[in-house]
Amino acid sequence: MRRWLIAILLILALAALAFFALAPGMIERGMNQIDGKPLPPVSARAQALHRTLTIVDLHSDTLLWKRDILDRAERGHMDLPRLEDGNVALQVLASTTKSPKGQNYDANSGDTDNITSLVIAQLQPVRTWSSLLERSLWHAEKLHRAVQRSGTELWPVAAPKDIDSLLFARSAGTSKTESGTIVSRPPVGAMLSVEGLHNLEGDIANLDKLYAAGFRMGGLTHFFDNDLAGSMHGLKKGGLTPFGREVVSEMEAKGMIVDIAHCSSACVADILKMARRPVVSSHGGVQATCKVNRNLSDAQIRGVAATGGLIGIGYWDAAVCDTSPASIAKAMKHVRDLVGIEHVALGSDYDGATTVRFDTSKLVQVTQALIDAGFSDDEIRAAMGGNAIRVLKAGLVPLTPPPSIAAVP
Ligand SMILES: [Zn+2]
Repeated sequence: MRRWLIAILLILALAALAFFALAPGMIERGMNQIDGKPLPPVSARAQALHRTLTIVDLHSDTLLWKRDILDRAERGHMDLPRLEDGNVALQVLASTTKSPKGQNYDANSGDTDNITSLVIAQLQPVRTWSSLLERSLWHAEKLHRAVQRSGTELWPVAAPKDIDSLLFARSAGTSKTESGTIVSRPPVGAMLSVEGLHNLEGDIANLDKLYAAGFRMGGLTHFFDNDLAGSMHGLKKGGLTPFGREVVSEMEAKGMIVDIAHCSSACVADILKMARRPVVSSHGGVQATCKVNRNLSDAQIRGVAATGGLIGIGYWDAAVCDTSPASIAKAMKHVRDLVGIEHVALGSDYDGATTVRFDTSKLVQVTQALIDAGFSDDEIRAAMGGNAIRVLKAGLVPLTPPPSIAAVP
């Protein structure tokens, strides 16, 4: 009898071990895919231009998954080696903390959550199992540890001066590894953002905790209505709540960029009405080239442009109704023609449970597609990152100086 019991326990222990070793990779492989369709050839001109660009991507969910961002992975869409291959200068890394079961673009309640089982399957710290705030703080901790281990290859960005020093270091073309060896790889910047500020857990004081952890951009909602605002994919799809308004004002005061991605139309209208600083749509598409409910109408694009902000265009099928580089360029062209090139940006949604045609190492595909769509070199420079650098540098400056400075007469 006892021998049987030991055998059963042993089998259970082995099954658990196999589960926790294999499940995170299997889940991610199923969620973050590359569709394998053929890619157009890239010209020598596109290659040469691409090498001279300062590239910024406004949204990726890589921190959600259990892998080391410093290592080249066989799965997903990005990691540091692939960002280097793609000549990316600055990557905004989002913290996603809750996503409803049966998630869809039309209507979701916030009653269920898929990320809880992912968090447990990935054996994250227990404090992240039940707290959405702790999930975000864990994502920040993961990034900060990677930055430490990278030497200067991964470069934390939380202030305009960090962007200046990053660009200066990139122009030198070298970075230091953990052991202090100089390598001829320019550093890649990383800035944290929040995908759905339900991670505040209803307490405005938690915004300080997120800020202290390095978060500098935030979208109010994700796939369900929360205590700040309605989601484009929620049940009621309402506007900003009083708490949502308080958070938007406080973000603007602190120098955290407000992101309208996933917000309901009423929420977007409310944000655009009260915005005093540039607002971004970090990842998505436009209705004019892809009629999906989460994509921006022309009126919304004009509204974002009026704040001096950015429209980050995604690469996945539901953002641009296809995964071809040409359809990405088509959406970017629409924004350019409607409001001007200075509002066009990249918002990949890599590793965001998306299916794309190419990972970040092959970003030259976008440069090629923009050339093919008739963009000038200067326009390509602006769309691929120049605009984002401008908006981030302006947006990260706190509106109200810290009390110690304000007190000086
Ligand atoms: Zn998203």
